[in-house]
Amino acid sequence: MNDSRTDEQGAGLCAGCAHALVIRNDRGSRFFLCRLSATDPRFPKYPPLPVRQCTGYVPSPEDDDQDAS
Ligand code: SF4
Repeated sequence: MNDSRTDEQGAGLCAGCAHALVIRNDRGSRFFLCRLSATDPRFPKYPPLPVRQCTGYVPSPEDDDQDAS
C-alpha cells in the first residue's frame, strides 16, 4: 500500500500546490500548511482537506512530470 499517495490525494489541490508546505508530526501524520496564510487572511494556515477549489492554487513545479535536466 502506498500511504503517501493516498494522503496526497486526500489533500486535494494542496497536494500539488506551490504554496503548500508539508508538515509531519512525531506520529507520522502529515498536514498541509498554506504559506499564503502568512500574507493573505483569506487563506487558513491549515486548510480543511480536501481542498477542491482555491483561488490561490498555483501548480507546484515539483508536480510536473517534465524533466528539466
Ligand atoms: S493556496 Fe490553496 S491550494 Fe495552495 S496550499 Fe493554500 S489552500 Fe492549498
